[in-house]
Amino acid sequence: MRAVVHQWLLGRGNSELGAEGIYTWSLPAWVVELPWGGHFNVCPSAGVCAQLCYARQGAYRFSNVRAAHMRNLLLTLQDLPGFEQQMTEEVQHPRYQGAHVRIHDSGDFHSQDYLEAWLRIIRSAPGVSFYCYTKEVALFKDVVEPDPPANFGWCYSLGGKQDQAIDLDTMRHADVFPSEEAVEHHGYASQDESDLLAVYGPPQVGIPANNIPHLRRIQGAHSFGALQRIRDNQVHAKSGRNHPSDPSE
Ligand code: SF4
Repeated sequence: MRAVVHQWLLGRGNSELGAEGIYTWSLPAWVVELPWGGHFNVCPSAGVCAQLCYARQGAYRFSNVRAAHMRNLLLTLQDLPGFEQQMTEEVQHPRYQGAHVRIHDSGDFHSQDYLEAWLRIIRSAPGVSFYCYTKEVALFKDVVEPDPPANFGWCYSLGGKQDQAIDLDTMRHADVFPSEEAVEHHGYASQDESDLLAVYGPPQVGIPANNIPHLRRIQGAHSFGALQRIRDNQVHAKSGRNHPSDPSE
């Protein structure tokens, strides 16, 4: 018998995802203050993206949105088995059959236990398609890649501390470019028409930056990946080691 769901955990996300009929699960982006004191980094492998993050701007800062994201995070931190049980029950509901769920409209897999809870949730609902972007490359290589659920797609995203572990020629990944023209110029396939192209389209996924003027100024003419390579090379130069990559773009 189907479980009774009192309040949906999954929402319709931002307007673009909602328009595509994609359900979403969101956490706060990057570092947040916890109610009992101290801070928590929801995106442990965020790099330059943290300063350019659209999920820390605009509607994401509305108090009701922030409160909902914080509620989600606290559920995963304080009662992970309870989260898993609630979400497992919810995704059995007929409204999700044949639908897509994007895990993390904002935020990322902040721990292995949390990722493993999601993998069990995903396997419990073979009629639902789940996908995500993530910067947790090492964790996914260890925990997901050896035996991924058939109904789960993921796209590594550049701009994080683990970019160097992404083989840009062979691994599906996304980069955020300053414009559609820049996406095309660098040979990436734009996902502007549908967010689902991140997992169903060509494996080099280009995302044109959101039109947020102060973030566009910070980003300048570079992609997130290029900015991260510049930062990584500066760090390596300071530490006296060889440059890990050539940022020339
Ligand atoms: S990982 Fe995503 S949500 Fe987190 S800071 Fe970076 S862009 Fe924002």
